[in-house]
Amino acid sequence: MKRDHTKLICDIGELSDLFIDSVGLDNFLQNIVFMISEHMNSEVCSIYLYYEWTDELVLKATKGLNPESIGNVKMRLGEGLSGLALKEIRPICEGNARNNPNFKYFPGIGEEQFESFLAVPIVRGRTRIGVMVVQNSKRNCFEEEDIKVLRAITSQLANTIETTKLLMSFNETAAKQRIVLKPRELKLVQGRVGASGFAFAEAVIVKTDSLSALSLQQLQTQYSLSDFQQAIQATEKQLELFQKEIEDRLFDVASLIFTAQILMLKDKVFVDAIVDLIQSGVNPPQAILEVVHKYVLMFQLIPNAYLKEKSQDVKDIGNRLLQNLIGHGEKGNDYEGRIVIAEELFPSDALKLSSQKVAGIILLSGGTSSHLSILSRSLNIPMVITDTPQLLDLPPATKILLDAEQGNIYINPTPDVSDTFRQREDTRKNLSSIKDSVMPTTHTQDGARAYVLANINLLGDVKAARELKAEGIGLYRTEFPFIVRSDFPTEEEQFVIYKKLVDSMSGHEITFRTLDIGGDKVLSYYYHGKEENPFLGMRSIRFSLKHKDIFSQQLRAILRAGHQADLKIMFPMISSLDEFLEAKEIVRESMFSLSKDKIPYHASAQIGLMIELPSVLEIIEDLAQAADFFSIGTNDFIQYMLAVDRTNEKVADLYLPYHPSILRGLKRIVDAAITFKKEVSICGDMAHDEKYIAFLLGIGVRRFSVDVHHIPKVQRLIVGTDVRLAKKNVEFLLTKPKIKEIADIIGPRDQR
Ligand code: PEP
Ligand code: MG
Repeated sequence: MKRDHTKLICDIGELSDLFIDSVGLDNFLQNIVFMISEHMNSEVCSIYLYYEWTDELVLKATKGLNPESIGNVKMRLGEGLSGLALKEIRPICEGNARNNPNFKYFPGIGEEQFESFLAVPIVRGRTRIGVMVVQNSKRNCFEEEDIKVLRAITSQLANTIETTKLLMSFNETAAKQRIVLKPRELKLVQGRVGASGFAFAEAVIVKTDSLSALSLQQLQTQYSLSDFQQAIQATEKQLELFQKEIEDRLFDVASLIFTAQILMLKDKVFVDAIVDLIQSGVNPPQAILEVVHKYVLMFQLIPNAYLKEKSQDVKDIGNRLLQNLIGHGEKGNDYEGRIVIAEELFPSDALKLSSQKVAGIILLSGGTSSHLSILSRSLNIPMVITDTPQLLDLPPATKILLDAEQGNIYINPTPDVSDTFRQREDTRKNLSSIKDSVMPTTHTQDGARAYVLANINLLGDVKAARELKAEGIGLYRTEFPFIVRSDFPTEEEQFVIYKKLVDSMSGHEITFRTLDIGGDKVLSYYYHGKEENPFLGMRSIRFSLKHKDIFSQQLRAILRAGHQADLKIMFPMISSLDEFLEAKEIVRESMFSLSKDKIPYHASAQIGLMIELPSVLEIIEDLAQAADFFSIGTNDFIQYMLAVDRTNEKVADLYLPYHPSILRGLKRIVDAAITFKKEVSICGDMAHDEKYIAFLLGIGVRRFSVDVHHIPKVQRLIVGTDVRLAKKNVEFLLTKPKIKEIADIIGPRDQR
């Protein structure tokens, strides 16, 4: 069909007049569809707008379809041909729409007679705004040229339509309700993956400032003092059981994790305060609430991370007591098989939740490379992070489908959504063949030898690392046993943990990273005043150099445990040669003290450093000469190079591994290591991201240390890479000074 495309493009340029002439925003969209349908000679032209919070693509203007359908025809992203065009951000052109299996029929819309179909997504960058659809009753009516033209039109109109959409949502009450999230209307919330996996369960909401609403509803029934005493006993038993279970499973970090709560039950003042109220005639549930509330307030009034953490313990104990009183212990605990929605959590909470068999976590703060995410990955708790506080207002026991592969949270999902996920999960679980596909050694397509090592966060990760044939441990994060304890672990306690690690690796290399606390890894028992910028404060090696006694106890424990191991020690967050040499000197002193004590130790461990700060770039050659090896911690390297807090969801879109300075910085570090014949590995999250592996191989990285579940993928990617080609691509990539240019080549960042 012949159309006057030149005229159409001109008219689009005059759209601003159209905007002024239109009476209202609906009318503006209507005018657009009339104009386009006229120029395209199409019997139908429609605009659908997409509302991402409700995941709805809604018909907003049409010429040719039933006008009653406007506002009533809705589909999800991916649903129907229009939904699919928007989901995949590509035009869909059909000679006869019904022949496409994705075609969806909407009764009453009046599109029966229209066979030719062309849908073009309206997008701005990667932001989905809506879809423009033209239809004709004549079959095979739209051609390649029409696709091009409609694409050109939608790209010119995208901004205007987006503004219209925004204004409409302000003006129309109905639309406003969809945009301003109301808990009951939340359907799909998108977040970022902290720890992958899947869960379909009831939600339990953990607010920092209140006890569970569920418990509050049940205050009417009368209970006795002896009911309360039984509840105390039941709670104590449960906590002891959790403690035992977690000690068996997570030997390295479990030490006395439930102690604070057990202690509270044994605290006469706390228990007597409740008993007194009961004896004065207050119903036990109310008495528990009152006393717990007072304690929570007392803890929260003190600006100290340690006490803040304890206030959650008090709330937990209150909820558990109420549960055991009201539910007579039937439910066991609040979290089993549930999805916890929380404003914030501490690493010890993750351990507690894991021992209570929580199904998943939705966290309203923190980043995907935060240490809570790292811990959740090791504990196999699916976790999604999203800055959507409305989730805290969901009614109790709301059903949630947590897709922590994609980062999607479905609230009260329809049966077909949950069925699809169940099937996907079954397939995922059946992937037992994965172990057979992993390789003990790895070569690139053109024969370069590369090594895939494991990042170990908890000792529990080691078994999988061995099964997946990791060639050693490239990073053992020693801080977790420190974080979850109630005091600094002694040299002996550390030795026992480290020895277990060494023994389980049967001779493979092990890289211990010395204590890396601070930032988002607070030691609840070490309070040295509030820091305005903890990531720039008393962190990591700075802490160790300030507390040389703690540092040297750790070094002694490592040197002793690694006595006969292939041992490497590295320091985190080194900012200068001076710091590195000072830390190295303490290793030497620790060796000396062990000799004096006649304790066997590893006398020639390799000593390296993590490259995480921009300040080392200018002295990288000097560091390469002084160190035995480098390990690049890209998580922090990106954070500090770009001044983007890795735990702050609000700036997550600025946390860009492909920023040209990051890529060039990495090349510079690797070049220095190669020049001085020192090993260099990558142990941050970039090491497992498929978009960067070829780049990293291309700049000369041969050692990749990754969380265990990424090992098979990284092995496969390495085997599939041709280093000569990768080098060529690197040369090209490194000439690009703009983020956008690199993004176009390498693609935006993936979900974890
Ligand atoms: C890093 O910063 O990349 C790293 C591996 O260390 P962590 O994530 O423990 O800070
Ligand atoms: Mg780091």
